Amino acid sequence: MSLVARLARPEILALKAYSHAAWEPSLQRMHANELPWRVDGDPSVAGLNRYPEPQPPPLVEGMAQAYGVSPAEVLVGRGSDEAIDLLLRVFCRAGQDDILVCPPTYSMYAVAAGIQGAGVVSVPLRAEQGFALDVEGILARVDERTKLVFVCSPNNPTGNAVPRGELLRLARALADRAMVVVDEAYVEFMPEGCSVAPEVASLPNLVVMRTLSKSHGLAGARCGALIATPELIALARKVIPPYAITELTVEVVAPLLAPAGLSAMQGRVARILAERERLAVALAALPCVRRQWPSEGNFLLVEFTDADDVLRRVRGAGLIIRDMRQPLLPHCLRISIGTPEQNDILLRSLQ
Ligand code: PMP
Repeated sequence: MSLVARLARPEILALKAYSHAAWEPSLQRMHANELPWRVDGDPSVAGLNRYPEPQPPPLVEGMAQAYGVSPAEVLVGRGSDEAIDLLLRVFCRAGQDDILVCPPTYSMYAVAAGIQGAGVVSVPLRAEQGFALDVEGILARVDERTKLVFVCSPNNPTGNAVPRGELLRLARALADRAMVVVDEAYVEFMPEGCSVAPEVASLPNLVVMRTLSKSHGLAGARCGALIATPELIALARKVIPPYAITELTVEVVAPLLAPAGLSAMQGRVARILAERERLAVALAALPCVRRQWPSEGNFLLVEFTDADDVLRRVRGAGLIIRDMRQPLLPHCLRISIGTPEQNDILLRSLQ
C-alpha cells in the first residue's frame, strides 16, 4: 500500500466523490439547473449563469508550468489556506491524529488542525540559530499519530528559508512515516531554483503549497496550488467543493500566468527586494530598533525597544503593521514591504 493510502483517513479513501455536472462544451447545457440567460452587466466571457469547469485547465496548466511540475500534480484552490484545510481533512481523524508545526510560524496550520480536531505537536525553530529548522528534533517527535509535518520556507514571520537540502533530507527521512508539507508562499522572493516543487515527482511524501497571493500580487483572487503526487491530488479533489474556483478568477488569472505575466511579476519582486534592503538598512540606524532578522520574504521581522509606542506612532502616520508579539517573539512586529512612499512614511514615523 502506498504511503498516502496508509496515512489518509479511511473515510476519505472510501468516499464516493460528488458527481458534478458533466463538462461537455459542445452540448447545450440543460443538466445543471442553471438559468439559460446571461444577466445584464455580466463581464465574463463564459457567462456567470454557468457553473465553472471544476479544476479549470487553464489555471491548472498555467500553474503547473510556472512551478515546473506536471498538471496531474496540481490542485488549484482558494489560496494556500484552502490547501492547508484540505490536507487536514484528508489526513487527520479528530482526536486521533496530529500535525507537527515549527513555531514561530504561520498560524493557520494550527487553526486548521483545531477545526478538524487534530492535535498539534510543536518543535520550535532554533531562535539562537537564526530560526533554523530543528530537523533532528522533528524526527525525534514524529510518531504514528503524526500525519503532516508543516514547514514554512521562507518562514512567516521570521523571514528565513530552510535550505533545499535540509527540506529534502527531512522528506527522505520521513519517507515511510509522514507527509512533509512545504509552504512556499514567499519562495518567488528568493533566487530561482529554490523551490522543492519539482521534487514531488520523486518523493511521494512531499507536498508543496504555492500561492498567487504574494509575489504575483493576486491576493484578492484567492488562488493557490497544492502540489503533490497524483494519488493525493485525487483524494484532495474528493474533498474540495466541485466549483471552488470562480469563472471570473479563471478568466482574469490564467492570462497572467503566461510568460509576459511571469516576467512582470519578477520585475515587481526586484522592486520589493530593493525596498526591503533599503528599509532594513534604515531601520538598523533607528534607536527604537533593538534587532531585526534577515528576510527572504516581502516582510521584515523587527524587535523594538517599545512595540506599543511603535504601533501607536505608525498608526498615527496612517499605516498599519502586524503585531507579532508572542512568547517566542517578544517585542516583535512584522512590516510588509510597501511602496517607496509608504516605507518613507513608516521610517519618518519612527524617527
Ligand atoms: N502561507 C503563508 C506562510 C502565509 O503567510 C500566507 C498568507 N498570510 C498563506 C500561506 C496563505 O496565503 P493564501 O491563502 O492567500 O494563498
